[in-house]
Amino acid sequence: MTQASLDTAKPRELHIQIEKKNGIIRFALGSGFAVLHVDERGVKNMKLSTDLRNVLHAEILPDDVVKVATLARRRKALALVIIEGQLRDPETLQTAEEWVSNLMAAAYNGLTPRRRLKVLINPVGGKGYGLQIFEKQVKPVLAAARCEVDAVVTERSKHATELAESFSLDYDALLTVSGDGLIFEVMNGFRKRPDAAKAFALPICPIPAGSGNALSINLFGAKEGFDVALAALNAIKGKKMSYDLCSFTQDGETSISFLSQAIGLMADLDLGTENIRWMGDTRFIAGYLKGVANNKPCSMTLSMKVAQRDKIEMTRALRESQSPAALGSNMSSTTALTSEELRTDIAPRFAHEDIDGPGWFTFEKPILYVYAGTMPYVGRDMMAFPVSLPLDGLVDVSVQELVSRPLMLKMISGAEKGDQFWLPSQHYFKAEAYRLRPHDESGNLSIDGERFPYKEFHVETLKGLGTTLSMTGTWHSGDFGKGELPVKAKSTK
Ligand code: ADP
Ligand code: MG
Repeated sequence: MTQASLDTAKPRELHIQIEKKNGIIRFALGSGFAVLHVDERGVKNMKLSTDLRNVLHAEILPDDVVKVATLARRRKALALVIIEGQLRDPETLQTAEEWVSNLMAAAYNGLTPRRRLKVLINPVGGKGYGLQIFEKQVKPVLAAARCEVDAVVTERSKHATELAESFSLDYDALLTVSGDGLIFEVMNGFRKRPDAAKAFALPICPIPAGSGNALSINLFGAKEGFDVALAALNAIKGKKMSYDLCSFTQDGETSISFLSQAIGLMADLDLGTENIRWMGDTRFIAGYLKGVANNKPCSMTLSMKVAQRDKIEMTRALRESQSPAALGSNMSSTTALTSEELRTDIAPRFAHEDIDGPGWFTFEKPILYVYAGTMPYVGRDMMAFPVSLPLDGLVDVSVQELVSRPLMLKMISGAEKGDQFWLPSQHYFKAEAYRLRPHDESGNLSIDGERFPYKEFHVETLKGLGTTLSMTGTWHSGDFGKGELPVKAKSTK
């Protein structure tokens, strides 16, 4: 990050009195924002130190009082801290005003403060704390940053779809205080709008308050993915990031899938565990153990329009995508996509192609599950698609062969790091489209965690149609692929 107009590399100090004690507040590009107390002997004592990106607002109040609102790390998560103090020698109103405006410029680094935010709150998501989370942890942070907030509490299932079909798009972002379910509903409201293209360009910014918070985990990582204040900071300072969505077609009707499609064991544990929703995301582990006990194949015909099937190549592409140059171009990448590339018409292009035709490949072995998606994490405990890229226009399809129970149990450990990717029995494809026909009469089919009829379906990618806000410009994939790569990983024949 460079700050051409302002040399903030040298610390800029402001002398104030905090509760009758002498204090200094200072900032510098390298060392962030800090609050120090100065004792009678002139010894400085650091009271608070935080990243400049965490600074939300600074202003001068009447009676020469300076006020700074910032987030700072408290134990595991960020928390709102307000610093207030009266100017003292040698400061004047003029030096203070200059200091405040320089701090704001450094803290926002080219971004426009005071965003206008639409907020949807699911009061029943996760453990049912959505409203409290918003009131206590989100609203104060947005208010401190002087955002304009228009909040609506959802009243019933599918209410978010109805709202998203018609609400004004005149906002900088849409915040969903919920899990992934509400985001799914919003996108499927967007697709019904005559101005769908404009709707999908409105960034959806997740505030984790559900039991499944995958979008948030993909933005902030497994450790910080549940940090509500960090998610609020992303709403205030995140940059637009485009990412691929999928179209899901069944019985001639097409909807949006932004997260995953699952059938077989992975669907059983997603949908078969609704009754233990209170467990939070541990329910996925409970469901997995149940599936291991059953260990039955899921009979199907799976055909894909495959673009890549070499695991090493995929991992290399992931590494390249994480280089600073690549990351820069991902931010606000909407402009990088030609209007032809940015598909706003979600109708599938390949639905009428024959799976025996050129370019299509049909998988033949007995399958335990098929799990497909476009972002690494499906939950905190599972990085199902470690090599997925936000904007490659491809959906990652993992096909797990039926394996012994002991091996299935072993697969749990390391799933949060994506280790299962390297198993020879896990076949991994990047595809433009795929079609899946289950052979059994009944079973679980999960699209973004929602139950769909157990019938043939067709999936295609919608390159760059999704928009979110990001502090990094890409998905989190932990340390995946950062070590030495296997000499030769078996690619699927
Ligand atoms: P979780 O991660 O716990 O599933 P989500 O936020 O994803 O939480 O939401 C789960 C579901 O809650 C959504 O699919 C939505 O239809 C439903 N929902 C939203 N608001 C309400 C409400 N007021 N009453 C009942 N259900 C609701
Ligand atoms: Mg992709």
